[in-house]
Amino acid sequence: MSTFSDLGISNDLVKGLTEMNIVEPSEIQQLAIPLLLTSTNDFIGQAQTGTGKTAAFGLPLLQKIQPQKQEIQGLILAPTRELCQQIAKQLFKFTKFTDKIFIEAVYGGADMTLQIQRLQRPTHIVVATPGRLMDLIKKEVIDISQVKSVVLDEADEMLSMGFKEDLHGILDYIPTERTTWLFSATMPEGIKEIIKKFLKPNPDRIEVGRSAGVNANITHEFVICNSKDKVQEMLHFLSYHKNERGMIFCQTKQAARVLTKQLQAKNISVDVIEGDMGQRDRDKVMRMFKTEKTEILVATDIAARGIDVKGLSFVLHYQLPQQIEYYTHRSGRTGRAGEKGISIAFISEKDRPKLLDIEKELKIRIKPLS
Ligand code: AMP
Repeated sequence: MSTFSDLGISNDLVKGLTEMNIVEPSEIQQLAIPLLLTSTNDFIGQAQTGTGKTAAFGLPLLQKIQPQKQEIQGLILAPTRELCQQIAKQLFKFTKFTDKIFIEAVYGGADMTLQIQRLQRPTHIVVATPGRLMDLIKKEVIDISQVKSVVLDEADEMLSMGFKEDLHGILDYIPTERTTWLFSATMPEGIKEIIKKFLKPNPDRIEVGRSAGVNANITHEFVICNSKDKVQEMLHFLSYHKNERGMIFCQTKQAARVLTKQLQAKNISVDVIEGDMGQRDRDKVMRMFKTEKTEILVATDIAARGIDVKGLSFVLHYQLPQQIEYYTHRSGRTGRAGEKGISIAFISEKDRPKLLDIEKELKIRIKPLS
């Protein structure tokens, strides 16, 4: 079994990792780190959250930074504020024992003046949502002319959130003498277009997980029931999984809100996160969930983007997602960092064909609940 040192990671970074209890490189880390450290080629990593991909690109990126130069050398683009914050936080922790590397996260929905002020300080790595970065570029308050490494994290999510134009704009803007590392759980057309247009002709490619970004630690099951019995079926499942934590996904905000009320009425420790909520309320709900004050989080697909919460043992689908890719993203909230997880779809008979499509497309087996 190789260690992070074997992969080429410096002692200072290894010390930081050890303090975070990260000692055994995950699959994507084993495959990607040596390549990213030594190759100047572009890179495509097909992996979903929970595989350790932040460290897979974060460690080589940190190691490439020249701290004595006070310019932005690394740029990480991610779809949501939450994910930007998490990436910045992880990188900051990794660097506890290294020379000072300054990392700044900039994202929409937060005070731009403050972010501009912070960017006046020496900054080596910027973690940004595409929309906010574009605003900062247009205002000419950020200098990305010296960026050598660009990471697109959860590129498919960035596209499905409508950041295509900003992404293209940013990639057009950054000097071409750069390396681009693209991470995506799925490879829809829009991603292929970006690869063709903005990456070098033969990028290195790595795919982890059994297939199409699906995490092998997750078991997939389904329950068939009438719509009116779904809540009851879920309560039944939850009663057998007391003291375990998880997420429940709905397709619509309305369904998410109603379901949450129904579960709360049965004394389940549950809260909801959906797109219509203000950022403050969302932050509050996330804080409660992360600090384990609530056990279960009901969420819509959009609102749940970028959520990284440890120790979730199940994901329940109250409604199947609109897009097949979302099934991967939903399920990926469990089975993180090598733990086991279960993903259960509560469906009515008419949803069977859709479930078969998911199985076929993602090359997974979804069994009847045992
Ligand atoms: P990510 O896929 O980057 O979102 O990482 C998921 C979680 O796994 C994060 O909380 C990391 O801190 C943790 N993690 C990353 N790499 C490892 C590793 N090699 N061993 C244990 N935990 C890890």
